[in-house]
Amino acid sequence: MPEGDSLHRTARRLQVFVGQRVAVETPHPRAAAERLAERLDGRRVESVEAVGKNLLLGFEGGLVLRSHLRMRGRWQVRARDSRPRTGTPWLVLRAATHEAVLWNGPVLELTTRAVRRLGPDILAEPPDLARMVENLRREHPGRELGDALLDQRLVAGIGNLWKAEALWSAAVSPWLSLGQATDEELERVLAEAARLMRASLDSGRRDRVVYRRAGRPCRSCGEPIRSRGQGDDNRTAYWCPRCQKGEEPPEA
Ligand SMILES: [Zn+2]
Repeated sequence: MPEGDSLHRTARRLQVFVGQRVAVETPHPRAAAERLAERLDGRRVESVEAVGKNLLLGFEGGLVLRSHLRMRGRWQVRARDSRPRTGTPWLVLRAATHEAVLWNGPVLELTTRAVRRLGPDILAEPPDLARMVENLRREHPGRELGDALLDQRLVAGIGNLWKAEALWSAAVSPWLSLGQATDEELERVLAEAARLMRASLDSGRRDRVVYRRAGRPCRSCGEPIRSRGQGDDNRTAYWCPRCQKGEEPPEA
């Protein structure tokens, strides 16, 4: 699943389209049904922005194309005279020198308003940590922090990998309930998520300490890393039971 940082990289690559008029095609029948090509063809791209896990392309006339990549979607940016494509992309945007191709775009919609239901973007510069903490504070105090961090209404852009890494880095357990967490702890976890994701975005590397390392020794104390499904979606949490302060998971 594309995490927020890879989506920001895509947004950077798509910046070459800003200010350009684009020819728009929707080869995939499901995308064609939305009549996107008719509505967007020939318009100038005004902005490209990653917000949480959404990519928003702003077009002149106030139209916003929102694409959410879910598990398999992918944007490709390439020179306009590249070799012919094989397969049926959802959307092709063509400008003077480049073309952008969206493959498997399960969510593609055209609106006249930006996405408002998302929380503040963890990769904003600077991230609005105070508002994220406020959002977390409005949730039920029994909700576990590791689960709440994935709720895109509260904080946009954190996926399961960076959730696990940020919690370890901040020495806070994913099982800590929001009611037991101090503001300082919440802010520390969010700041670590922002720092780690920003570093990954700039370097293209993902240095993993706990994610998918269950049973391996903790890099700090040597205790085996543990893993367990968490929350309604049963996303796997990874944590060091010695380094990360907070509750233990509830008994199965
Ligand atoms: Zn440890």
